[in-house]
Amino acid sequence: MEAEKMELKLYNTMTQQKEVFTPINPGKVGLYVCGITAYDFSHIGHARAAVSFDVLYRYLKHLRYEVNFVRNFTDVDDKIIIRANENGEEPLELSNRFCEEYLVDMGALQCLLPTHQPRVSDHMDHIVEMIQKIIEKDCGYDVDGDVFFSVDKSPNYGKLSGQLLEHTRAGERVAVDSRKRNPADFALWKAAKPGEPSWESPWGRGRPGWHIECSAMSAHYLTPKFDIHGGGADLKFPHHENELAQTCAACEDGGVNYWLHNGHVTINNEKMAKSKKNFKTIREMTESYHPLALRHFLMSAHYRSPLSFSASQLDSSSEALYYVYQTLQDLNDALLPYREAMSEDSGKSEQTAEAKDIINKLKSEFEGKMLDDLNTAHILTGAYQDALKFINASIGKLKKMQKKQRMSLLVSLVEIEKAAREVLDVLGLLTTLSYAEILKEMKQKTLTRAGLSEEDISQKIEERIMARKNKEFEKSDQIRAELTVKGIALMDIGKETVWRPCFPLQANSSD
Ligand SMILES: [Zn+2]
Repeated sequence: MEAEKMELKLYNTMTQQKEVFTPINPGKVGLYVCGITAYDFSHIGHARAAVSFDVLYRYLKHLRYEVNFVRNFTDVDDKIIIRANENGEEPLELSNRFCEEYLVDMGALQCLLPTHQPRVSDHMDHIVEMIQKIIEKDCGYDVDGDVFFSVDKSPNYGKLSGQLLEHTRAGERVAVDSRKRNPADFALWKAAKPGEPSWESPWGRGRPGWHIECSAMSAHYLTPKFDIHGGGADLKFPHHENELAQTCAACEDGGVNYWLHNGHVTINNEKMAKSKKNFKTIREMTESYHPLALRHFLMSAHYRSPLSFSASQLDSSSEALYYVYQTLQDLNDALLPYREAMSEDSGKSEQTAEAKDIINKLKSEFEGKMLDDLNTAHILTGAYQDALKFINASIGKLKKMQKKQRMSLLVSLVEIEKAAREVLDVLGLLTTLSYAEILKEMKQKTLTRAGLSEEDISQKIEERIMARKNKEFEKSDQIRAELTVKGIALMDIGKETVWRPCFPLQANSSD
């Protein structure tokens, strides 16, 4: 491929355009992504942010960058304290529990572990140190143990989010803290209140404001100026605006070169959010859908676009992914009898021109999409589907072919499988399990959704066989249709009837 085509372009919120990605240090990338506030199970919106930046992380590694990826846990926060008080639990105990639960969800979704996962409670020294620097530079001030950031001292304040300072004085409508010099000033440090966790500081006991943790941790684990900062679109203001103002106030060389923001997950045209109580947790969804199907769904739109959540979208993702794994599994089965012959041939036979063409198209389409701001929308379509079609068409031909011709097709199929597998790997759609094992897991989730057991289906298959023997074709069709509605397709292969998951088609829809 031409060098120019290999350039990764990323949409930068700061400049509002796609830019060619150039790291500060050649071959290395510093990446910081805002993590969760750990007080409850995470929902699909959190999963989208995690998967979006996992795709970036994986793709940067695929492009051979050495990536230092930092994602924090907010384990000191109002929400945590409130929830812990409700439960009669220690705040740090509660947050620790939900950090662990989050990691379980991340594992299920095949999100790679970041290089560092710092927690606020472990970094009080770095946070206090940064606040001190901000005060020294005259960009912060202490009032009775509370410390505020002075937005008037930040010449570029509002540039990232496009919010003018005059418009950000949200505090003016509500009760204004009269101790603030400007109503838009925000807390760097909050004086301790009775019954709340607190830490020592030069301004008395207290705890940090929300924004300062990300400035302190990114400067500590990366450098004050680093390559890419990511997070959900709702974090642009005030969180990222404040984070940037703090870092630049504390460190003259501070800043971020590329700001990336992922779009919301919507449900019934509203943003999915804890505050709206319209959320679905990752845990809840992965009880009935395979986590990789959920991951496929989360990648099915461009990461910056809103993504509309519905069960039928998840059904589509399940079906699409099942087909991919099934095809690759069928190929593995078909290749099995020829493994010995292939190792004897040991690379003497060449792949066909048609196969080379299929692989080139598959690779260049995938790289082209990913280099263009990580466009995972319509993943595994186009050239990928052509490759799967070729595999399916070839499997049946193998037995009938002459030896030499067959060896060439076998070599071709091995190479196509390798290319198809690599795409799945970069997209995080492989696990340590074999295709057969993933398929088995997906079938299990289908049964859960249908509310049926394997025995129930065997019984239905028996009933259908009986009905057909008795020439009760209406009845046999009905049995099949009833299962199709539940996402279970009966397939007659030779004399045997097997089942596979399918998109649950309603009885009245045409097929
Ligand atoms: Zn943050």
